[in-house]
Amino acid sequence: MDKHQAEKRLKELRLLLEDYGYHYYVLDTPKVPDSEYDRLMNELLQLEADYPDLVTEDSPSVRIGGPPAPSFKKVAHRVPMMSLSNAFNEEDLRAFDRRVRQAVGEHVSYVCELKFDGLAVSLTYENGKLVRGATRGDGTIGEDITNNLRTVPAIPLRLKQPYSIEVRGEAYMPKASFERLNEAKEQAGEEKFANPRNAAAGSLRQLDPKIAAKRNLSLFAYSIGEVEGKNVQTHFDSLMFLKELGFKVNEEAAKCETIEDVIAYTEKWSERRHELPYEIDGVVVKVNSLADHEKLGFTAKSPRWATAFKFPAEEVLTVLRDIELNVGRTGVVTPTALLDPVLVAGTTVRRASLHNEDLIREKDVKLGDTVIVKKAGDIIPEVVGVLTDKRTGEEVDFHMPTECPECHSVLERLEGEVALRCLNPKCPAQIREGLIHFVSRNAMNIDGLGEKVISQLFLHQLIADVADLYLLEREELLQLERMGEKSVDNLLAAIEASKENSLERLLFGLGIRFVGAKAAKTLAYEFETMERLQEATFEQLLAVNEIGEKMADSIVSYFQKPEVSTLLEKLANAGVNMTYTGPKKAAIAEEAGVFAGKTVVLTGKLSQWTRKEAQEKIEALGGTVTGSVSKKTDLVVAGEDAGSKQKKAQNIGIEIWTEEQFTQAVEQSEQ
Ligand code: NAD
Repeated sequence: MDKHQAEKRLKELRLLLEDYGYHYYVLDTPKVPDSEYDRLMNELLQLEADYPDLVTEDSPSVRIGGPPAPSFKKVAHRVPMMSLSNAFNEEDLRAFDRRVRQAVGEHVSYVCELKFDGLAVSLTYENGKLVRGATRGDGTIGEDITNNLRTVPAIPLRLKQPYSIEVRGEAYMPKASFERLNEAKEQAGEEKFANPRNAAAGSLRQLDPKIAAKRNLSLFAYSIGEVEGKNVQTHFDSLMFLKELGFKVNEEAAKCETIEDVIAYTEKWSERRHELPYEIDGVVVKVNSLADHEKLGFTAKSPRWATAFKFPAEEVLTVLRDIELNVGRTGVVTPTALLDPVLVAGTTVRRASLHNEDLIREKDVKLGDTVIVKKAGDIIPEVVGVLTDKRTGEEVDFHMPTECPECHSVLERLEGEVALRCLNPKCPAQIREGLIHFVSRNAMNIDGLGEKVISQLFLHQLIADVADLYLLEREELLQLERMGEKSVDNLLAAIEASKENSLERLLFGLGIRFVGAKAAKTLAYEFETMERLQEATFEQLLAVNEIGEKMADSIVSYFQKPEVSTLLEKLANAGVNMTYTGPKKAAIAEEAGVFAGKTVVLTGKLSQWTRKEAQEKIEALGGTVTGSVSKKTDLVVAGEDAGSKQKKAQNIGIEIWTEEQFTQAVEQSEQ
């Protein structure tokens, strides 16, 4: 790129970044994912580094945040509120560490904190009393949002010690509050917030404090702007001091002696971020010694003693090339977007769900559109938006089909539903998907029966319904592709073992509409046998806790179908268990907790519980947990690889439960 081209591109980038920044900082409604903003900002920084004489004073590369909104009183920050430099990978972190050590010598230690995704605020206390709260604004001048901040319960109105201090922290909205807020907005037909960060910022930048008060906001204090009469030597000590004053300080802040420890911390939280009840988008690494902060100083935009490690983006832009249609087990036709491959949260994504036609219709998604793809945690990637600004006119309209892509029957939209459905019960796609569901982990849990094997069984006409699985012969299976003797034997053993499953697995596996895994458990527990459930009336079903009219209705009509009776008979004849084998209702004390007065021993490895959690549950339900098995023991819960304790219990004749039985008992007693 020559200088002339660079100048042109710089202009474009500045305009784009200014526009995106305005929507993000001022309007609290981002136009593009953060990853797109970061990508453009990096391009700008690179170009400015290559052509330093093209750097302008007002370039977004040197500006912090956005200007304060005219509707709020302005507050000048005595100590500027800076932005943070970014690190996107291990190499960037090592480079940061090298720069720090060059400036202050080898003996550096760091503090790692989570990077909360909210908005920075400044809180000023005089003699221990909150007198002002402000946004960061452009770093020098912020907005006075004192009245809104006063409504945040985590912000002390009076400190535990009467210091005059300016405290900085991140105001945020917990994930659960964000979801509730967006649900309410959806019901009210209002525009939803894009993410908890924008929801928090939008709530605090309201003129009416009553709104902020209702929004369930919180705050983590993370640094001191200035303080009178207190000498703190390290950043970690300032966090401890803030805690003493009564602030909420995040518990995960950790001292790290080397950059290796810092990297390990970022890796840990990259993996575990979804376990937290609030959003984080990275880790902030700060030099611990405050004397070193002095030595390192600031760039125009950010301190040299800190950097923000950003997690791999979970929301990115890519181009939608085509839309594929899949028929699910209930006949719903789901559109899937076929995308230009793109890296999302560390994995390459080529397909993403478009859920139902809603998004396609609402946003008028066209083939060739630039779309926002999101993948949070283990969740399947989804298309969450379209960037209509990026249209070139070359995009092609898309229309949902009128016929089932598999069996060509006419698709219908049932009343009150958004989805298009294939109503042909013999549609091969539905039967195939039903089989996949039947063998899945929460249903009959048959290992070795993946989608590929099922599709083959189906293609070779070895199965037409779920009961046929139990009639499969060794020789038939050996003829399938990639099925050796060992895999066939394992598969047959898994199918055989599944016959012993307790009733709820079968019930869930049958795929009765509206009956999820939890409801299946409740039904199995209440009715105990398939026969009794088949005979249950609408009223009897409705009388069961958690079973509503819609589900009761669906269950009754399911069992009325003659083909269902035939199927159940076929399953029973094949030897599939039709009774509930978990702890029986009658055996569970009505009022007292399920472990009331019982002495329980835990042994072996539990997969769904830590020992501590299991013990707490037992105690909460009236039992006592002891370490060794004796005649006084009432019950042993045996996890995987349970050894001598289980044997001893068997010898003395003490009741032994599997982990599954234990979990069921706990869940039922909590219903
Ligand atoms: P930043 O988000 O990179 O980092 C600074 C901020 O981190 C601080 O102001 C503070 O609010 C926050 N923070 C959270 N936890 C912290 C902790 N423990 N210690 C210290 N600070 C902590 O910088 P920025 O200037 O606020 O914003 C830039 C970022 O905002 C960009 O990287 C981009 O992702 C996003 N952005 C997005 C758009 C968009 O259109 N999507 C537009 C503008 C900016």
